Amino acid sequence: MAESAGPAKIIDGKIYAERLHAQVTAEVARLKAEHGLTPGLAVVLVGDDPASQIYVRSKGEQSKAAGMHSATHRLAEQTTQAELLGLVAALNADPAIHGILVQLPLPKHLDERAAIAAIDPAKDVDGLTMINAGRLASGLPGLYPCTPVGCMVLLRETIGDLTGLRAVVVGRSMLVGRPVAQLLIQADCTVTVAHSRTRDLPAVCREADILVAAVGRPRMIRGDWIKPGAAVIDVGINRVPFDDPVKAAQGKTKVVGDVHFKEAAKVAAWITPAPGGVGLMTVAVLLQNTVTAAKQSVGLA
Ligand code: NDP
Repeated sequence: MAESAGPAKIIDGKIYAERLHAQVTAEVARLKAEHGLTPGLAVVLVGDDPASQIYVRSKGEQSKAAGMHSATHRLAEQTTQAELLGLVAALNADPAIHGILVQLPLPKHLDERAAIAAIDPAKDVDGLTMINAGRLASGLPGLYPCTPVGCMVLLRETIGDLTGLRAVVVGRSMLVGRPVAQLLIQADCTVTVAHSRTRDLPAVCREADILVAAVGRPRMIRGDWIKPGAAVIDVGINRVPFDDPVKAAQGKTKVVGDVHFKEAAKVAAWITPAPGGVGLMTVAVLLQNTVTAAKQSVGLA
């Protein structure tokens, strides 16, 4: 962290996501050629949430592009819990499938926890089962959640060794905040997890050499919350009206992060844009997890 304060260098998620995708593609080709093993990913989508449809399409396309077997199961909005659990059980038993992802959020009448718990931990490529969360919390190898792993790839690629750095994670969800904090602990950072009840959040954030924002509140983290020279990882994906009043009046929206990018970029040493940062890493890590699960299924990892 010898880097001086802003203007920040942009951490371009596209570069690192493409690099990881290329590594996965090469490994898939090797597994096919040397072991006759084609990693298979099944994605389950219930209902027609527009954002989920985009994510699921991207996961299917990218897994095919990497040479993997891809199966997308689109279930009707009114699918019952028993039907969903039945599909998960069938995928658990399918030898062509090594990774299962149930796209969240599920429609309100379905029990997300029960659906996740039904996934065989060996095929849990989203890293959300109790077994994989427990392995991560215990510092044991396992399938870890994709977005947090993506954050760590970006940090290691830009900063290198993270030992001894002060990290603040804003957000404590099972999907992002908690696992990213665990991974930062594994990387020998000194970690603070902040949340909606944290007192004087700006002061807490100002202690961070590494600031990870996973809140879901557009541009909440301002420039004067950031320590000069910090690395800022913005996980947030928030849809807001355009600043341009004409476009806003047409109902057009755009995506912004949890960090006020313009302000933060003047202070930080490194910053991820949103979009174009962490979000691009998530699918690449998902494919990597599927390859790992496939290798483990035949004792290759
Ligand atoms: P959650 O809603 O599950 O969690 C949000 C967290 O932020 C909670 O821990 C909450 O605290 C905390 N929080 C809310 N308001 C405040 C506040 N005013 N001050 C401090 N903390 C606050 O969200 P997720 O973790 O699932 O997602 C976070 C963001 O990341 C979202 O924008 C989401 O879209 C994005 N995301 C991006 C992904 C990607 O691929 N890039 C993947 C997954 C998510 P408390 O626990 O006290 O309620």
